[in-house]
Amino acid sequence: THNRVIVELAAIPENVGVARLMAAMVAAQGAFTVAEVDEVKLAVSEAVTNAIVHGYRGDARRMVRMEATLDDGTLEIVVADEGRGIEDVELARQAAVTSDPERMGLGFSFMEAHMDEVHVESAVGRGTRVTMLK
Ligand code: ATP
Ligand code: MG
Repeated sequence: THNRVIVELAAIPENVGVARLMAAMVAAQGAFTVAEVDEVKLAVSEAVTNAIVHGYRGDARRMVRMEATLDDGTLEIVVADEGRGIEDVELARQAAVTSDPERMGLGFSFMEAHMDEVHVESAVGRGTRVTMLK
């Protein structure tokens, strides 16, 4: 199966669920188990939430882009924002590292736990692009 879905979502928390569902529907077309589709949903939730709360700091006028591509049984999800960016990606990816004391700092850890590969490209003031493979 080959499929590709690209969506742009206003940076509001309500759209985390929209992104989850779109990613799940594409994943369900591949040979993934229900449990694996759930893992994809969790990983997408973390990445999209990060774009909204950290990338755009809740500025609802900005847009988060999600691409879901299914190719030969491999699912690639890209979540991208053009927001604040991350100063030190290697540090930010570590468990319990957060710029917000109200948070746990576990989003990237969950993405890594639930997906086979997670790549993060980011530039301060330019934005962040998270690519996840399963
Ligand atoms: P949690 O996900 O547990 O609620 P968190 O979001 O702080 O907490 P991570 O998702 O692991 O933890 O992200 C770690 C840190 O990386 C964030 O605190 C933030 O500083 C930075 N970060 C992550 N994604 C982005 C992004 N899209 N734009 C800017 N900064 C980001
Ligand atoms: Mg997070």
